[in-house]
Amino acid sequence: MTTPLERMADFDLSDHQREVRRSVRAFAEAEILPHVEEYEREARYPVELVAKLAPLGLLGPMIPERYGGSFSDVVTYGIICEELARVDWVVASVVSVANSLAASSILRTGTEEQKERYLPGIAKGEILCSACLTEPGGGTDLAAMQTTASKVEGGYLLRGTKVFISHAEHAGLFFVVATLDRSKAHKGVTAFLVDPHSTEGITISDFPMRTLRRDNLAEVHFEDAFVPEDAVLGQEGRGFPVLGAALDMGRFSVAARCVGQAQRCLDLSIPYAMEREAFGQKIGEFQLIQLKVAEMVSRTEQARLLVYRLGRMKDAGLERCSIEASLAKLAASRAAVANALDGMQIFGGYSCTAEAEIGRLLMEAKALEFGEGTSELHVKLIAEYALGIRKH
Ligand SMILES: Cc1cc2nc3c(=O)[nH]c(=O)nc-3n(C[C@H](O)[C@H](O)[C@H](O)COP(=O)(O)OP(=O)(O)OC[C@H]3O[C@@H](n4cnc5c(N)ncnc54)[C@H](O)[C@@H]3O)c2cc1C
Repeated sequence: MTTPLERMADFDLSDHQREVRRSVRAFAEAEILPHVEEYEREARYPVELVAKLAPLGLLGPMIPERYGGSFSDVVTYGIICEELARVDWVVASVVSVANSLAASSILRTGTEEQKERYLPGIAKGEILCSACLTEPGGGTDLAAMQTTASKVEGGYLLRGTKVFISHAEHAGLFFVVATLDRSKAHKGVTAFLVDPHSTEGITISDFPMRTLRRDNLAEVHFEDAFVPEDAVLGQEGRGFPVLGAALDMGRFSVAARCVGQAQRCLDLSIPYAMEREAFGQKIGEFQLIQLKVAEMVSRTEQARLLVYRLGRMKDAGLERCSIEASLAKLAASRAAVANALDGMQIFGGYSCTAEAEIGRLLMEAKALEFGEGTSELHVKLIAEYALGIRKH
């Protein structure tokens, strides 16, 4: 029988979308979840888990069938990200970076040759992707980037450093932004598709992390790395619109992942609250614990509705829905962090033990609050749209 919480999550979904949720959840719980703690302990990148996604079409949910993908609609893509993130942050990140940032940008702006070259490989899992955006000087103010592209015969030389680059050592495709002219700020930016294996002058080094160590975060150095003219995605100097549209889609999938994590906090906390006892009763019977559970449910559902609405708008053909993307990302990442904190409180001291998943979820949720625009950036964007300072 469907519980009230399941009914809310399924609100207004098509039969196909419900079936995708059911099958991805069953797969993720059986094939991924049992192994996550082991990868976490060993700080190991889950290549073997990622490989399991390809035969199910889960590596190319934004890629149309003609390029080997399994695209049906954007809401379904969001549900896939949500369900994968419910069990594993890294696996969901692989899908989200490859589809929202790389594949969607190639589909939107790439040449037919670029589509043929990259999309089937991404869908098959032969090409994992990294987005090389953030620099040591900052990730929020992307127009201030320092990585340069200098025009030379037949192509460009890339020079600069990108930091916090997820999946970098395993990636076969880098989505890179660099500037041809720093004085032009965002108007100097160009987007490139770079094959890190065949490009000389790229060094990938470890970016040491206190936690989140199995995401394979790296520092990527471009030392006059030559890329040919056909590595440009879109047009020279028109990289900022490419990036803007990519981030819009990235915010959708990151928000969907946050909903998955917020849901996981609930899924862990509810049985614990109804099992753990204090003062002769279940802790879930205390009003103060009930308040936390009610707020966790409320935040998750509000965020989910914002994410699905954004997906619907994209399915209706609205390419840029930036205020809705910011609202969804802000609400969902806050929900993921707040649910992890409330969940930890429900678990008490056990949330800090080695095997407690809820404690790990807090750091993962916090990182999601930084990626694809920090909360501060989204507050700023929402206010600027509301005040008419920003139009699109
Ligand atoms: C686990 C993890 C994975 C990541 N993966 C990737 C990746 O694959 N590729 C990639 O390119 N990057 C990646 N990042 C980087 C991430 O996108 C950046 O951390 C993020 O964009 C913020 O940039 P920053 O850390 O340089 O902070 P800064 O830009 O230096 O900002 C610092 C603080 O100042 C605030 N701030 C900045 N501007 C304003 C303003 N105008 N008003 C108010 N407050 C402001 C910010 O919100 C933040 O709180 C990853 C980060 C983490 C933690």
